[in-house]
Amino acid sequence: MLYTQQSFLVAGLSRSGVAAGEYLVSRGAKVSVYDDVEDENVRAAADRLSKIGCTPVKKEGLEEAIARCDILVLSPGIPVDHPLPVAFKRAGKRIIGEAELGAMNLRCPSVAVTGTNGKTTTVAMLEGIFRTAGKKALACGNVGRPLTSCLHELGEDGLAVLEISSFQLETLYSLRPHVAVVLNVTEDHLNRHYNMENYIYLKSRLLKNSAESEYAVLNYDDPIVRGFAEKTKAKIVWFSLRERVEGAYLQDDCFCWYGERLFPAGDLPLEGEHNRANALAAIAAAKLMGTDNASIRTALKNFRGVKHRLEKVGELNGITFIDDSKATNVDSAIKAVGSVKGESVLLLGGKDKGYSYEPLFDAIKDSGVVHAVIYGENAFRILNAALKKGFSAVTLCRPFDLAVRVAYLTAVKGQNVLLSPASASFDAFTSYEERGKRFCEMLELLKSEAGNALSVPKEATVEEDE
Ligand code: ADP
Repeated sequence: MLYTQQSFLVAGLSRSGVAAGEYLVSRGAKVSVYDDVEDENVRAAADRLSKIGCTPVKKEGLEEAIARCDILVLSPGIPVDHPLPVAFKRAGKRIIGEAELGAMNLRCPSVAVTGTNGKTTTVAMLEGIFRTAGKKALACGNVGRPLTSCLHELGEDGLAVLEISSFQLETLYSLRPHVAVVLNVTEDHLNRHYNMENYIYLKSRLLKNSAESEYAVLNYDDPIVRGFAEKTKAKIVWFSLRERVEGAYLQDDCFCWYGERLFPAGDLPLEGEHNRANALAAIAAAKLMGTDNASIRTALKNFRGVKHRLEKVGELNGITFIDDSKATNVDSAIKAVGSVKGESVLLLGGKDKGYSYEPLFDAIKDSGVVHAVIYGENAFRILNAALKKGFSAVTLCRPFDLAVRVAYLTAVKGQNVLLSPASASFDAFTSYEERGKRFCEMLELLKSEAGNALSVPKEATVEEDE
């Protein structure tokens, strides 16, 4: 689509804002760009965009820009009740997200995945499956590759495997995937969406454009997602870890599809029931897209997981370090403590998102967690939940680096140090990736200290007689 007659304001200059600006310029639009923040990254993004013809807008020029522009492209990081979109709405003008801009211009079929947890893992599985089957599939959307930056490569013969977040769903209207997958809905982002009703409603919006010719792959084991079957015209295909459903399920430890045994669940090299659920969702979507069994099996057998998701990152003195920094809510941390083998010292904490941590301590009681080291802005809220639930093997310790060190010192040989924080990272880091990276750096630091300690002659450390 050409946009020579329209003028856009792109707000929020992170990855998707830059992609939207670039795409719009390539389609002939007049584009202004703005961000509330004025840091180095934003300045670099604004520079890059102004070089291709975008007009950077400062705070003082915002009112004029709102009057001048026809459409606001809002970053998923900016809530719809921020003063800028509110002013746009008051002026009777249109607000879309970068994902919506992509969806409006998508010319190939798509499979879209949403849910509280498991989106990236499932999308990565699907991309692997489709590519193994010889399709030109691209994982895009919330996976860190904006859809608008993939449109050219996808063309008409590609297959978009889209990860869609609740933030994107706030401003996404016209996506109509051939297969829409909803993995699960548990408490998350209540600081942004205010309450569960609103969050659930947003998740259900992925299915709202589907017609009878499309499919909705839904988690039968999740009561909220099960209810979505009534909200769509799409044909319902279930997946379940527990029941023999119409769709994909587990039977005798084997992945099955409508009565057909596909391959042993043990072929999937990832730990955790939740990853088997993700695999079932991926199998259902792949089968609905006409993929052969051999490609599905090969791709899932070779799937090694995604970084910062229950990733074993190293060992020191018989203690295994596991980076699950992407566990940014309670349910993902529950899944972690339920699937990691052996005993663990758990690292918990970060930025609060407004939910209760008590269910985590119910799960911890039946798990291998022997101790929790709690850090971060929400440390006292987590500590309260632990004590309310009668879990007292806790150490409260800040900042993060010290907490990692204390977790390592608390663990004994054969145990794990598990970073599965049940919280966002933004109190101390720019992202969960940065937090995971810091965890790995701390491991390297502890290793080098252990190495140095070993190389120091014993006598040299004794300065005084006792
Ligand atoms: P998302 O993209 O939805 O955030 P990821 O695949 O990145 O999901 O995983 C995020 C976190 O959730 C990780 O800690 C991971 O171990 C956990 N997780 C993955 N799949 C599931 C699932 N189906 N249910 C609950 N937690 C999951």
